Amino acid sequence: MRVERVLLKDYTTLGIGGPAELWTVETREDLLRATEAPYRILGNGSNLLVMDEGVPERVIRLDGEFATYDLKGWVGAGVLLPLLVQEAARQGLSGLEGLLGIPAQVGGAVKMNAGTRFGEMAEALEAVEIFHEGRFHIYLPEELGFGYRQSRLPQGGIVTRVRLRLQERPLEEIRRRMAEVDAARKGQPKRKSAGCAFKNPPGHSAGRLIDERGLKGLRVGDAMVSLEHGNFIVNLGQASAKDVLELLKRIQEELPLELEWEVWP
Ligand SMILES: Cc1cc2nc3c(=O)[nH]c(=O)nc-3n(C[C@H](O)[C@H](O)[C@H](O)COP(=O)(O)OP(=O)(O)OC[C@H]3O[C@@H](n4cnc5c(N)ncnc54)[C@H](O)[C@@H]3O)c2cc1C
Repeated sequence: MRVERVLLKDYTTLGIGGPAELWTVETREDLLRATEAPYRILGNGSNLLVMDEGVPERVIRLDGEFATYDLKGWVGAGVLLPLLVQEAARQGLSGLEGLLGIPAQVGGAVKMNAGTRFGEMAEALEAVEIFHEGRFHIYLPEELGFGYRQSRLPQGGIVTRVRLRLQERPLEEIRRRMAEVDAARKGQPKRKSAGCAFKNPPGHSAGRLIDERGLKGLRVGDAMVSLEHGNFIVNLGQASAKDVLELLKRIQEELPLELEWEVWP
């Protein structure tokens, strides 16, 4: 286990976030120790807006045994989803293609029920192991209250590993589906971001609503509504959390949108 003072901007895809004590856990015993005081669990930091002041709690990151996987057995929650999507395709296993391009860790993808119109994480799960109140429990997906970009994990629960529901399929079929998903993602900005900032209201696209209001390109400091995709807020370089909050506020003054990101603290 490693404990170090870090700046969370180095651990979030938006590149924003102040200081915290980072606990990198590698074994189950580490996890028991790390959770003895108030904590937050960090995945790949791709759906987070972390304040410039940082967070007072321990920030736990999964590595070691939590970053190992066997696609036909248990998959660690600290494994990167893009790696799994590619590896499953290589092994002729179908079920993850719709998650192509989502820069999450498995645990963060479960928590957010990450997905696209081609499929979401919950559909690919057979079982989920969650650590809470000092013990490891196994859940079936139907027990975890999955919905659109949400789940109801037990309070303070840390996903530690999952079993996936994958099917053997011809390689060409898997590759064809992946190419289709990839093509649908082509318009996404390449700059630093945290994916879609807002949830799509039922029957609408948040990105399109933002675009129609003429808000693309709206800028506070180095935080800007992407010109390519209205629901992406990009960090042009030195954006602060304060800039991003102000930009979110200006958008929400115009449109009743619900934030998809999680804000820390
Ligand atoms: C370029 C880009 C494209 C994106 N495209 C998509 C997309 O197509 N679809 C989509 O759904 N999302 C997308 N996202 C958003 C993001 O990737 C997802 O929300 C993802 O699920 C976040 O996972 P993470 O591991 O980065 O979690 P983090 O951002 O680190 O954390 C998010 C939440 O999950 C919790 N968490 C993390 N790990 C665990 C764990 N092991 N156990 C319990 N809770 C945990 C955190 O505490 C936090 O509450 C995109 C993001 C980017 C930057």
